[in-house]
Amino acid sequence: MNKKEILEKFSADPQRYYNVNLFGDEGFERRSCNVCNRFFWTLDSERVKCPDHSDDTYSFIGDPPTSKRFDYTQSWKEVESFFVKNNHTSINRYPVVCRWRDDLYFTIASIVDFQRVMGSKVVFEFPANPLVVPQTCLRFKDLENVGVTGRHFSSFCMIGQHSIPNEDGYWKDECVNLDFNLLTQQFGIAKKEITFVEDVWEGGGSFGSSLEYFVRGLELGNAVFTEFQGDLSNYKTLDQRIIDMGAGLERFAWITMGTPTAYDCCFGPITQKLIQNAGIDSDSSVLIPYFTEIAKNLELYEDLSQVRKNAIKTTGLSDEQINRIITPLEGIYLVIDHIRTLIFAISDGALPSNVGGGYNLRIMLRRIVSTMNRLKLKFYLDEIIDMQIDYLKNTYPELENTREDVKEIISIETGRYDSSKQRMQKIVSKLDKEPRVEDLITLYESDGVTPEYLKEMNVISEIPSTFYAKLSDLHQSKKQKDQVNLPLEGIPDTELLFYGEDPREFDAKVLKSFDSFVVLDKTAFYARGGGQEPDHGKIGDNDIIDITKHGNIVVHEIKGEIPKEGDTVSCIVDGKRRDGITKNHTSTHIINTSARSVLGSWVWQHSAFKEEDHARLDITHHSALTDDEVVKIEQAANLIIEKSIPVKIENFDRGTAEQKYGFRIYQGGVVPVKSVRIVSIGDLDIEACGGTHVTNTSDVKEIKITKTKRIQDGVVRIEFVSGDSAKEFVKKKQQDSESKEKEEKLKEQEKEKRVERRQLAKERIPIIAKSLSDCKQGISTIEDMTIELSVSNKANFCYSTSNDYDDVFHIGLGEVLCETDPKLIYCGLFEQGEKIRVIVYAGDEISKEKSAGEIVKSISQILGGAGGGSHKFAQGGGVDKSKKEDAIKNVKSMINE
Ligand SMILES: [Zn+2]
Ligand SMILES: [Zn+2]
Repeated sequence: MNKKEILEKFSADPQRYYNVNLFGDEGFERRSCNVCNRFFWTLDSERVKCPDHSDDTYSFIGDPPTSKRFDYTQSWKEVESFFVKNNHTSINRYPVVCRWRDDLYFTIASIVDFQRVMGSKVVFEFPANPLVVPQTCLRFKDLENVGVTGRHFSSFCMIGQHSIPNEDGYWKDECVNLDFNLLTQQFGIAKKEITFVEDVWEGGGSFGSSLEYFVRGLELGNAVFTEFQGDLSNYKTLDQRIIDMGAGLERFAWITMGTPTAYDCCFGPITQKLIQNAGIDSDSSVLIPYFTEIAKNLELYEDLSQVRKNAIKTTGLSDEQINRIITPLEGIYLVIDHIRTLIFAISDGALPSNVGGGYNLRIMLRRIVSTMNRLKLKFYLDEIIDMQIDYLKNTYPELENTREDVKEIISIETGRYDSSKQRMQKIVSKLDKEPRVEDLITLYESDGVTPEYLKEMNVISEIPSTFYAKLSDLHQSKKQKDQVNLPLEGIPDTELLFYGEDPREFDAKVLKSFDSFVVLDKTAFYARGGGQEPDHGKIGDNDIIDITKHGNIVVHEIKGEIPKEGDTVSCIVDGKRRDGITKNHTSTHIINTSARSVLGSWVWQHSAFKEEDHARLDITHHSALTDDEVVKIEQAANLIIEKSIPVKIENFDRGTAEQKYGFRIYQGGVVPVKSVRIVSIGDLDIEACGGTHVTNTSDVKEIKITKTKRIQDGVVRIEFVSGDSAKEFVKKKQQDSESKEKEEKLKEQEKEKRVERRQLAKERIPIIAKSLSDCKQGISTIEDMTIELSVSNKANFCYSTSNDYDDVFHIGLGEVLCETDPKLIYCGLFEQGEKIRVIVYAGDEISKEKSAGEIVKSISQILGGAGGGSHKFAQGGGVDKSKKEDAIKNVKSMINE
C-alpha cells in the first residue's frame, strides 16, 4: 500500500482522522506548509511552514525552549512519573534481542515488545493497559550517521506509550492530551512551540493515522492510532485498536539541554570525560553553529559527506578546526554510542559473529577499534563500559549483572580483530582499484575487512552512504522456514495423549489417510518438534516411519498399506526409544543451564537434537570449549542429576509466563501459541518447551559429554549421551583405552626389540663377514647362517631363515658380504608379523648373470606374494610361512642353472 495515498485520503477528512479534542480546546489551527503542502496543527499564528521547513528548525541548539534541564536519566524519570501519575503502569524494558519474533533479530520499536506471532497473524499482548516503557531499540540502517549528525544512534530509548481503548485504556483524544501535557507541564515547553504534523503509519497489514509532534524542528514523538487492516481500497476496523506512541528519550534530553549534539547529554558524564582525555578543545562557539547547520541540512541532501561539506562551508570552519575538533569528536561520539549498544546486546545474550544478528555487533566493534586507531584515541574500553553501566543502571539496573560478561566478550572480540589485521593487510594490498559498494560488502562478508579499516588504511576516503543500509538489509531479518502443504482442511486438532496419561498402547480413530499418511483423532506418538525426534511404533501392523505436526494436527507416515478412514486402529509406542529420547531431552535442558553457569550469561540454546541413544545441544559461545570447560560442564550437569530435582511442567498464559520468568524461557525459539508449557528444573532452568521429560533429574542417571566442536562462528556443539547410554559409553571408553594401552605396550616392546636387533647386527655383521672370508669349499654354518660356497662353479650362496634377524640386519649383512665376495648371492628370509619377507643381494660379478630382482620375484611367488628390485638388491615377500624351505631350494636351483 502506498503511504502517500493513505495520507491524502486521511488528510482529506481531518475531522475524522486528525482533529482531536485538544486542538479545539486549545485553539490549534490547521495549516498546510507553503513549501511541501503537508498539513500541520499549531497555536502559532505566524507559523506557515511545517517543522521541516521552518526557520526555527534546530534553533534549540544553544538555546533550549524549556524552563528545565534534564539529561537522559532525568528525562526518563520525568516521563515515567508523568505517565504513572496519569494511571499508566511503568513496565521494564524488554530484551533488545527479540526472542519472541521469528522475523527480527533485535527489538526495533517499543510496540514490538507486545507483538506475538500466531501463524501468519500478528496479535498484541499487553501486560498492562495503559502502559509506558523505556524500550531500548537497536537499528543499524544509519550506522554511518552515528556520531556525525548529532542525533543518530545505533540504539536509543523509545518511550513507548501504549493503550487499548476499553474501560481501562484510551484512544486518540486522551493520547494527544497526555503528550501535550507531558511537554508543557512536565518539561516546561511553551504551548506555541509544539507543532503536530499529520501523517500515517502502516505495517504488518494494519495502518492508521498519526500525529507527529515537533518542537523547533525536532521530532520528539509520533502518536500512531492503529485502527485499520487491509488495503486502502478495501479495509476494515481492527478488533483491537491500539495507541502506539513512540518518542525518542534522547531527543527529550537534547531539547531541554540544548547541547551541540544529542550525544553531549545522553551518556551522562562520559562524553565530557573522553573529550578531556583526548585533549580536545570543545569550544561551543564553533560547535553550536556547525551542528545546527548539520541538523538543518540533513534532510536536504542524500549524501552525508555533502551535508558535512556544506556545514563546513557555511560555518567557515578551517581544515585545521575540522581535524582538531570536529573529526575527533565524531569519533568519540561513535565510540560511546556503539559501546552502549554492545552493552545492551551482549547483556541480553547476543554475541558478535559473522552470522545473523551477531553480524551487526561485530561490525560495530570493528568500527570502534578502527576509529580509535585512525584518530589515535587511547581509551580503555573496559573503563568506558564501567562508566556506561554506572550511568545506565539508574534506568536499567539489570545491566549490573552482566558488567563483567560484557567486558569479557568485548575483549575477546577486540583481540580477534587485532589478530586478523595481518590477513586483512594482505587482502587490501591486492586491491588494484577503489572498491565499489558491492566490493565493500563482499570484502566484509567474505574476508571480514571493514570499510572503517579501509578508511584507516587510506584505501577509501569516505564510506559510501549506502553501505550500512545494504549490509543491514542482508542481515536484518531471519529467513522463514517453508512448510509443506498437506490436504488437512477441516480436520480437527489431534488430541495429544503424551501430555496426559501418555499410554504406550492406545486405540484411535482414523480421521484421514492418504498416500502413506495417517491422521488419528488422538495420538500418543510424539511428532518431530523442538529438536526432539519422532517416536517409533506401530499403527495396526504397520511401522511408523515419521511423524510431523502441521498446525495442531499430527500426521503419521507409515510403511505398508494405510488403514481406511473411519477405522479404529490399535497403536503401540516404542517405549524403549521414547524413554531414551525423553532422558536426552531433559539432559539438553540440564546441559544448557550447566554450560551457562560455567561459561557465562551469553550462553543460549542455538538448536538441539534428541535421539534415542545420543543427543546434541548447540549453544551460543564465542570460542571452542577447552577440556577443562567440558569437564566442568559435565560435572555441573551430573551434580544436578545427583541432587534429584523434580522436573515440573505447568501451563501458563504466554504473557504471564514472560512476566514471571522473563525471556530466558524462549531457549527453543518462538512459541506460536497463547498458552505456553513451562518446563522447570527447580529454579535452575525454566524453558518454554513442548517436549517429553523425565519427572526427576535423578531419572537421567548420568550425562557424559562425548564430543564438542565449534560448528560456526559463535556456536559450539556439545554432543552427549545420558542414562544407560552414558554408562555404556563410559564402559566402552574404558575398554577402548585399555585395548589402546595394550596396543601401545606391544608397540613399545617391538621398538625395544628393534633396538636390540640393531645392536646385534652391529656386533655380528663383522664377525660373520670375517668367517665368510675364512670359509673353505663346501657347506658351513656360522651363527644361524648357512653358507654354501661354489654352489655352482660361478656362485657362492649364503642364506638364513632364522627369525632372530630383521630387515636391518639382512640389509646390513648382505651389503657387506657381497662387497667382500663379488660372486656371492645373499638371501635373508624372516617372518614379520603375519608375513614372511625376503631380502636378496647379488655381488658385482654374479649379478651380471643372476639378478637379485629375478630371484626375489620368483621366491615371492612361491611365498604367495610379490616383490622385485635391481640386479644387485631386491626385496619382497608373501604370506605362506610353510614355503620357506621351498623358497631356498628354488634359489639354489636358479643359481645352478
Ligand atoms: Zn514542509
Ligand atoms: Zn526442551
